[in-house]
Amino acid sequence: MTIPQSLSPAASLVRCMQQLLSEGLTTGTNGNASLRSAGGMLITPTGIRPSELTPESIVAMDLEGNIASAQLAPSSEWPMHASIYRARPDVHAIVHCHSHYATALACNRLSIPAFHYLVALAGGDSIPCAPYATFGSAELGQQVAGTLRERRACLLANHGQISVGPDLESALELARRVEELAAQYHACLSAGGPVLLTKDEMDEIHARISNYGQPKRTRA
Ligand SMILES: [Zn+2]
Repeated sequence: MTIPQSLSPAASLVRCMQQLLSEGLTTGTNGNASLRSAGGMLITPTGIRPSELTPESIVAMDLEGNIASAQLAPSSEWPMHASIYRARPDVHAIVHCHSHYATALACNRLSIPAFHYLVALAGGDSIPCAPYATFGSAELGQQVAGTLRERRACLLANHGQISVGPDLESALELARRVEELAAQYHACLSAGGPVLLTKDEMDEIHARISNYGQPKRTRA
């Protein structure tokens, strides 16, 4: 775990962005993260580097774009986050970044097919690439929310990647996996193209992955 549960929601968003930076998944002021809140969402501000973020710089806003005037301006990508929260009641955290390999595939408008069984972590038999729309636009929000209807992660054409989850740690971990899979798929394409898993093989993975992780221990 890289985001301690003891942190406040705002502090956990700061930690998340600093993790993305330290792990090489973001640079400069690219990328953003949010958490669902009682009033809408908490989201990272626009134009602030992760190293300069503080819990006080995190922006509280509703899903229509209303914010208290004393706060910083939210990430320009807030419409994308708001669209996802409106469409997916099960989503409580979102991590968006321009990680190297995911962005490279997205610029080729490639989805990541079932070349490796861990593609199933994104919730289906592929990690799809959402159609292109201008960053920060309501159209991009609609495109991404539509692509994520049956997924927990997708690529954004000519832009980057986005991962969602029930909590910030899950969304951050999925963002790492998406970048790892993107790098591996890129290598496979360079080596002539992978052999893809069949639907039956992926169905078996989905059944197993629902029990992924350490088995529950019973006390002796
Ligand atoms: Zn972006």
